[in-house]
Amino acid sequence: MNLQGIGMTSERTRQRVIERLFEKGIRDPRVLGCFAKVPRHIFVDEALGHKAYEDTAVPIGYGQTLSQPYIVARMTELVLGARHHERVLEIGTGSGFQTAVLAQVVDEVFSVERIKPLQQKARERLRLLKIYNARLKMDDGFLGWPSQGPYDVILTTAAPEEVPNELIDQLVPDGGRLILPLGTEEQYLTVIERDGDDLHTRRVEPVRFVPMLKGVQNT
Ligand code: SAH
Repeated sequence: MNLQGIGMTSERTRQRVIERLFEKGIRDPRVLGCFAKVPRHIFVDEALGHKAYEDTAVPIGYGQTLSQPYIVARMTELVLGARHHERVLEIGTGSGFQTAVLAQVVDEVFSVERIKPLQQKARERLRLLKIYNARLKMDDGFLGWPSQGPYDVILTTAAPEEVPNELIDQLVPDGGRLILPLGTEEQYLTVIERDGDDLHTRRVEPVRFVPMLKGVQNT
């Protein structure tokens, strides 16, 4: 892994990504700023490096994908739209790109991944980029990370069939926000906001994510 390309060329390429995100309706300068700061090519295999700055999903091995920049940006906007967003739990570390983006705009990121080798690579990348406010855990994300909770925002980057109640329980009661792709064949990016015991749900837009799976995988 190398940091080569963090020079001029890559900066210009990243600027184009930002322009495209703007055209697609991403307007929050904090979110756009993340795409200038976090080099996406560090998060994909070198052979696929040329795809890193296209607005497409990129395979990261083990049948998983790094989401397209637009979706990462959209989800990050939704994180910043929550009443509080200091402490954020992510389910599905994957490559670690969304984790690195979140680490730019919130105080603390906690991220859970069920596939060990993906988690190990993500950890290396975050260290390389000197990101120290993200903590990673290998576990089944359906359980959340109760010992560090409650969280202002929880987002999943894999799609469960139904809303996982354990995650709702780990939200702060006053405006805690769960952001998740929900469904199987047909999926919607969904926002659920907690107000005491009440939940307010809204569908944002149709999306396509890998399924959220139970249990852990060590190799
Ligand atoms: N945010 C990632 C997206 C990776 S794809 C990125 O920026 O690259 C979704 C990830 O969710 C995969 O790595 C997959 O292994 C993980 N995942 C699926 N079900 C999970 C679960 N129950 N707990 C934790 N991670 C899970």
